[in-house]
Amino acid sequence: MMRKVLVIGIDGASWDVLNPMIQSGCMPRLQHAVQKGFSGTLLSTEPPITPTAWTSFQTGLPAHEHNVLGFRSFFMENGRFRSSILFSSSMRSRHIWRILSDHGRRVCILNLPLTYPPFPVNGILVSGFPVPSGDAEYTFPPEFKKELYDIVPGFKVMQSGIGADQKEMQIEEIVDRWSAMMFQKARLAIHLLRREPWDVFMVHIQESDLIQHYLWPCMDPSDPAHRIEDFVRVAAFYSRLDRLAGEIIDEGNSRGFSVMLLSDHGFQRCRHIVKINNWLHRKGCLVLRKDAKRMVVSTIKRIMDLPALHKWKSTMKHSAVKAAATNQYLGSVIDYEKTVAFVETNATHVAFLHLLTADSLVCNRIIDEIKALTDPGGAGLVRTVSELEGPGNRRKIVFADGVAAAGIVPDGKPWLETPIPFKQHVGMHHRSGVIILDDTFEPSRMPLEIFEVPALIMSRQRIPFDPLKSDGRMTGSLEKTKGAFASFGSSDADKERGEVEEQLRGLGYL
Ligand SMILES: [Zn+2]
Repeated sequence: MMRKVLVIGIDGASWDVLNPMIQSGCMPRLQHAVQKGFSGTLLSTEPPITPTAWTSFQTGLPAHEHNVLGFRSFFMENGRFRSSILFSSSMRSRHIWRILSDHGRRVCILNLPLTYPPFPVNGILVSGFPVPSGDAEYTFPPEFKKELYDIVPGFKVMQSGIGADQKEMQIEEIVDRWSAMMFQKARLAIHLLRREPWDVFMVHIQESDLIQHYLWPCMDPSDPAHRIEDFVRVAAFYSRLDRLAGEIIDEGNSRGFSVMLLSDHGFQRCRHIVKINNWLHRKGCLVLRKDAKRMVVSTIKRIMDLPALHKWKSTMKHSAVKAAATNQYLGSVIDYEKTVAFVETNATHVAFLHLLTADSLVCNRIIDEIKALTDPGGAGLVRTVSELEGPGNRRKIVFADGVAAAGIVPDGKPWLETPIPFKQHVGMHHRSGVIILDDTFEPSRMPLEIFEVPALIMSRQRIPFDPLKSDGRMTGSLEKTKGAFASFGSSDADKERGEVEEQLRGLGYL
């Protein structure tokens, strides 16, 4: 029988958090859903990061097939390293929203990551994180944006600024702020569910990811910095999440939807942050241009100055801004004559090592030394270093549990840091996300992989779905990835990339 599908995405939801919350009685609705339906671990992508995992969810492809490996794409151009923020146009495989729309299904997608800029669907799309600014066109159809503000006055589409502000904020304030944003999304979802009979409806909650990054010791009883009074404070967030999810589920149930809740990855305590480029810099493997500091400052200045430039400066200067915004910091400051290795990171436990020398002895020595890195207690920091297909001489570094790689541009700080609660990201991702299906689904097994979920949705809709045969599938070529941006290239797109990058940096995602 064909069934309508309601999907509730809870970014970063982890049994490591939900189980203690359920046991303490804060999440009765979720507990009920778990008892009544099928639940288990949903395995994330490798790297288990928001843009990568949600792209698998939307395309049915594992990470190595869709090749969206972070918030940014990295490529070499004319011997220089460049990076560019990924947008929805980078998702080059046919995604479920397109297929559903092509089959005449009505879809509503609210705040799902990597759906900016909005694309045409048979229904409504409100883009998700990261959106460059509230002024951007972030809805499809564009005219829905006005209606959205009528439904939810003061709707906040982006997370910008919270990352910097909350260092001074109390736990209650952080919980209240993020709860308010979550409440807006739930209100919009319930309004739209009541408005018309959708076929597939998805609402996504991003705030759960942010709260776990910043307040991890509050929710993890095994964390040395855990205090029971903080658990009670942070439980208020989960209790509100439970109530709002329950209201959305009730709306869905009363309208005959099959309901699924899922997350894109799980969470764990971040024990160490490895600034691997600092380490390479100190070893003399990564050499910066003499004017590196000035380059970074002027790049940021030019990006931040964009609106003024748009208004006052000449076309010539404008194109210099475009170059600065897309040719991001690390690429600008490397001394390519002297550098033999550098790393691209997305603040997760996976990083990518670029070797700029063909000397295999030098390469092997660097790799061996990376593999041998330990924390002050002598525990290994790196799990594996493996070769990567595609152009260039690259390796994938997978760090040990609880170890994140961060820091793009080398700075004067130590290469190994222990994050400080309430100042830095103290929670980090792992691969074990969650999935809860109601009893109208028939999952073949548990755990599932996140790229298997769209097949469940499509089978409810009785639409054939074979992601590997879909048109326009990416081949894994970095050059092709770059091509996707070129076709999207306009001065506005460059400006937005700069804004998004600043936002991600402010939140600690880069
Ligand atoms: Zn996260």
